[in-house]
Amino acid sequence: MRADGLASYRLPGNLRPVHYKLDLATDLEKFDFKGSVLITLNCTKSTSSIVLHSVDLTISAGGVTVNELGPDNSVQHTFKIVDQQQAPKNDFYIVKVDKELKGGKLYQILIPFNGTLAPSLSGYYRSSYLDRASNTTRWLGVTQFEPSDARRAFPCFDEPEMKAKFSIRLAHKDGLTAVSNMPLVKTTPMENQQGWSWDEFQESVPMSTYLVAWMVSDFGNGEAPLRPNNVQFRIWARTEALEQIGFASDVGPKVLEFYEQLFDVKYPLPKQDMAAIPDFSSGAMENWGLITYRETELLYDPKKPSINNQERVAYVVAHELAHQWFGNLVTMKWWTDLWLNEGFATYVGTLGVHTVLPELGYLDEASMNYLTSVYDLDSLKSSHPISVEVGPPSEVSEIFDAISYKKGSTVIRMMHNFLGDSFKTGVSTYLKTHKFGNAEQDDLWAALTEQAHNDKVLAPELTVKQIMDSWTLQTGYPLLTVERDYKTGAAYVTQTRFLRIPPQPDEKINQTCWWFPLTFTTEANPDFNDTSPKQWLKCGEKRVALAELNVPDNQWLILNVQLTGLARVMYDSKNWALISSTLNSDRYKTIGPLNRAGLLLDAFDFAERGDLPYETALQLSAYLSRETELIPLQRGFIALNFLNSMLSRTPNYGTYKRYMMKILLPLYEKYSRLAEIPKETEQIKIHNLLSYKFCHFEIGDCKEQALKLYGEWATADLDKSNPIPFDLQSLVLCKAVKFGGESTWNKVWSRYLQSNLASEKAILLRALGCTTEVWLLNRYLEWSIDETSEIRKQDSLTIFAYVAGYDHGFFLGWDFFQRNLVKIYKYHEPRTNKVGRYLLTLASNIMFQDELDRMNALIEKNKKYFEGAKLQVKQALENAAANVKWHTNNYEQVSTLLKQ
Ligand SMILES: [Zn+2]
Repeated sequence: MRADGLASYRLPGNLRPVHYKLDLATDLEKFDFKGSVLITLNCTKSTSSIVLHSVDLTISAGGVTVNELGPDNSVQHTFKIVDQQQAPKNDFYIVKVDKELKGGKLYQILIPFNGTLAPSLSGYYRSSYLDRASNTTRWLGVTQFEPSDARRAFPCFDEPEMKAKFSIRLAHKDGLTAVSNMPLVKTTPMENQQGWSWDEFQESVPMSTYLVAWMVSDFGNGEAPLRPNNVQFRIWARTEALEQIGFASDVGPKVLEFYEQLFDVKYPLPKQDMAAIPDFSSGAMENWGLITYRETELLYDPKKPSINNQERVAYVVAHELAHQWFGNLVTMKWWTDLWLNEGFATYVGTLGVHTVLPELGYLDEASMNYLTSVYDLDSLKSSHPISVEVGPPSEVSEIFDAISYKKGSTVIRMMHNFLGDSFKTGVSTYLKTHKFGNAEQDDLWAALTEQAHNDKVLAPELTVKQIMDSWTLQTGYPLLTVERDYKTGAAYVTQTRFLRIPPQPDEKINQTCWWFPLTFTTEANPDFNDTSPKQWLKCGEKRVALAELNVPDNQWLILNVQLTGLARVMYDSKNWALISSTLNSDRYKTIGPLNRAGLLLDAFDFAERGDLPYETALQLSAYLSRETELIPLQRGFIALNFLNSMLSRTPNYGTYKRYMMKILLPLYEKYSRLAEIPKETEQIKIHNLLSYKFCHFEIGDCKEQALKLYGEWATADLDKSNPIPFDLQSLVLCKAVKFGGESTWNKVWSRYLQSNLASEKAILLRALGCTTEVWLLNRYLEWSIDETSEIRKQDSLTIFAYVAGYDHGFFLGWDFFQRNLVKIYKYHEPRTNKVGRYLLTLASNIMFQDELDRMNALIEKNKKYFEGAKLQVKQALENAAANVKWHTNNYEQVSTLLKQ
């Protein structure tokens, strides 16, 4: 902290940008850019230093000019600059002038600069692709600024609250195209540089620096038909991929219209461009009016039908478009409230997909997927609150995680459920009140409370803030313990924090409490549709009786209908037995599918903690052999997955395999033909899911069918037709590579080099990690961090996860990571928090104390390389410790049980 109370990485705040005039020329042959930025500043507090952000840019100090502006914006006075310097520790560039800039007046600073287009995936960087027709490499320049990398492209006030209007001009060689946030106004030839032109874009609306974007490329584009809202929608991609933009151009405009109705706020820009970038660090980025995507998240080849890819593209498009309101129009004041961006975009994105493609069944599936991630990460002491204090850029980067996205979305879903229609109206008011400005979560709570009180959805003494602060300001979520009185038919609920490693009774962590909307239903009158809260479990209340309840003693009681609330629910052994007997009977569907899924997830996590006998959990999961719906099957296998990874490298894995075979065999009868894809969407998904299990556990002739399909694949003209159904390619090719040796590996690799479809390339990369040849795996790992290899930086980490996630690959992954830590760190610069992800991958497969010791020693010895990944280091160690604990306490017993 500095004397003025601001941390050293924050701007002083005495100057606020009003307008940027940014001129930038890009040279894709020299990989550099040069330009100037003219920033109009409003001085709020007198100062003689101008402090702004700049990283890795060369500033031409002689050209820096500071002027005072008069009322008509004319230059009144030019200051003498007495000093200027870079302050690399806090990413600042500081210009000192001879006299004070006075509060209440307008100033201008002009800064000429230049920089390098590095292949860094951040700032203004370069990407490339192979043009297959001409067999030449083509280059493009594109930006990725969130959270703190606009400062790598031009000197600026790089904080989300410093909103300003942007007038951008981009120069480039003729034949290339420039796009930016706003529409192109005009193109003029560049003076003194023949064959170059300036593209000038319309002045933007007020926006944060992290949302500024541009791209200079030789891409083509396709325009979606104009809809009644008159927003021009274009999709950009390399020319050879333009045949893959149809799906996104259909979904995008529809989703945008849905949001306009949902929020009752028009999309404020005249156009929306979306671009598929060959090298991209995350999935996509919501830059206002120019959304950038990894190719896999935007492109879809209709000739290779795939439900997975449709879902992926539809969701990511819907997520990014939701940001145009949540994040772009109304922006969080500081990254502490990143969840207001990401939680909302995640939740609203699922609503968007559900509305335009209801047949995908995406809403429930995604909700359960998010819930499962939150269950895991947020059961660690080293998790963090949704709304979390963060400072320097490395800390900000770390919170783009499951808590901000998935827990954010999960608690918004819960809130939507207890507020009903008031949610929509309240959110709309919030957006209208704060548009083009910034907000904190309290602003949202205020709008929602007012609406809920008007609509009489919340009692006058209750506020949304009171309820939701317990969810966003505290780490973790509740474990509800249900006690039934079988004589009177009553039931009571208490809450504590759910932790993967149960706390000691006197630990303070037990004191946390939440406001929980209680829903429940009974065997006598099962209703899994009514999710409106029957009563509140208040924070601070010790033990609450469920109202008006009289459950017969031979019937079950189930809490948290459709898992709309974020909690785990522990019952007494008799209630578990009653549930188990319904699940293991023809009446299992009297329990709703989301709750069937939740019961399995809970039971196995309780068993891991020692709260529930493994017998009970395994009895429950045995019912899966009769399950016919997707969500319980998906979650059921995930519940069992922990045992899979804890036993996979042990001598007793065979017993686990046989337990799984018992569950899977009855299901195999219906889905035994690998290449026969069912017609109906849910059935296709079940077929995909089960096929992976059948082949993994060697049920029937699954493996033989897979190898036969590979044989056909290996000789087919794959650009014309592919004998493997797209969503099964990963399975089939993985098996082929596993049993195939070097020649199969080479065959799959050469297809990777040839394929024109990014989602196919991703599948091939995954399959390549399935080999059991040590030298091939080691070479593959080496390639993953080699700038000159054919593997893109964006795929580096996933390749490591593919290799280290398999049993034998775990050992190789370890050695590789340990030996190459520094190289890995440098390879990912400036995104050095990536080393934390490597660690998390390894940690999830750690089983034994010596493995944990090895991890501890590695971190201890290399502290400085883990500086930017502090949170993930803690989470990795805690996860690994819990695994080791499981082995000590449960390994023998579970192995014996599985044998029975
Ligand atoms: Zn997002």
